[in-house]
Parts: sequence; structure tokens; C-alpha cells
Amino acid sequence: MGVSENIKQFLASEIPANVKLIAVSKTKPVETILEAYKSGHKIYGENKVQDLVDKYNELPKDIEWHMIGHMQSNKVKYVAPFVSLIHGVDSFKLLKVINKEGEKNNRKIDCLLQFHIAKEETKFGLDLNETTEFLKSDEFKNLNHINICGVMGMATFTENEDTIRPEFNELVHIFNQLKNTYFPKNDDFKEISMGMSADYKIAIEEGATMVRIGSLLFGARNY
Ligand SMILES: *Cc1c(COP(=O)(O)O)cnc(C)c1O
Repeated sequence: MGVSENIKQFLASEIPANVKLIAVSKTKPVETILEAYKSGHKIYGENKVQDLVDKYNELPKDIEWHMIGHMQSNKVKYVAPFVSLIHGVDSFKLLKVINKEGEKNNRKIDCLLQFHIAKEETKFGLDLNETTEFLKSDEFKNLNHINICGVMGMATFTENEDTIRPEFNELVHIFNQLKNTYFPKNDDFKEISMGMSADYKIAIEEGATMVRIGSLLFGARNY
């Protein structure tokens, strides 16, 4: 089955209407993404700035590009003109840079705050204490060119559901706490981005509003 059929079938059978599919096209060539695009699906995710920019330039302009990987501050300027959502905001410093680049481009950039929910040391992410510290600050309140749309997280890389499920649950808990305390009147703060090919079912059961799926749609990646 081709990638276009794959996506159609996956959307129809696996993704509830209230959940957004981010098709993770990282490492895949533009030809493959164009094939996927024929399914009618228009939301794609990349984890490297250079690839995101190259693919944006070469592919149809109605594609919604999501930056799902770790971002270095000095590279924000390359995606700021067009990126639809930055999933991996893991520091206040990065958020301030995104705001500055949003201002230069005369737009508001949608962002998710990435939280560290996994057991592994290697995964990036904020913790709740440092986040509430900056959300309370006047400096944060004056950032007019970012729009915080919710939270993102990655579970531990394991097949053990008993590890994964509480981690996703913790992210939902963080979301609710932030929503109630800092964003009660902000209707845009509504997204919980969690779940990949191996654990999306659990993520959806736990309350994901966005899942980021790569290999299950496009096949395994060769790095
Ligand atoms: C690669 C990647 C995914 C998709 O991974 P698959 O296992 O191929 O579905 C999701 N989220 C992030 C942040 C990624 O880097």
C-alpha cells in the first residue's frame, strides 16, 4: 500500500475526530511527502530546521509545517516566517527568541511548552516549577508575538505500558494545572501533543489532542 492510502486508512480507522494527526516526515524526501499530500492530509512535522526550510520551499504552500524537534535559539529566524506550530519550547529563553522573530515577521507564532515526562535523562523539556516561574512574570505577559497553545511531551522509550501511561497522564495533569491557573480565558490553550507510532493508542486514551506519527505512515527511517 502506498503512503497516501496508508494515511487515509490510518486517519479513518485510528484517529478520532477531535485528535489532530501530525504526519512526521523527517528524513523522507519531498517526493514521498508529495505522495502523502495526495491523501489530502496537510499537516507535517520535521525535527530539523534546515530540512523544514528546504521542504517548505519545495512543497505546496498550503502545507501546515510543525517543528517537532529540539530548537536552537539561533535557528528560530529561519522558520519564523512560515512555521505553523513549534512543539518543542523547552526554555523561557527560547520563547523570548521566538517572540522576537515573530515581531520581526509581524505575526504571532503558535507554540507548545515541552515538558520532561520520561525517565530518560536525554529528553528535553521544562519542569512545572520553572514554567510557573516565568508564566507569572511581567516579562512573559509582555510577549505579544507568541501564542501558547498547550503542552507537548515524549514518554520513555519502552514497550512497558505501565511506564508510558502514567507519564502521559502526568502531562495531562500539567496541562490542566496550567490551563486553570494561567490560561483560563485563553481558548487557544487547548492542545496536548503526545504519542508516536509505538504509543499513540495509549496517548489518545489518556487525552492527546495531537499525535505525531512517522514510521507507521512512512515506513522505517534509514538515518
Ligand atoms: C520522530 C519523532 C516522532 C515520530 O516518531 P515515530 O516513532 O516514527 O512515529 C514524534 N515526535 C518527535 C518529537 C519525533 O522526533
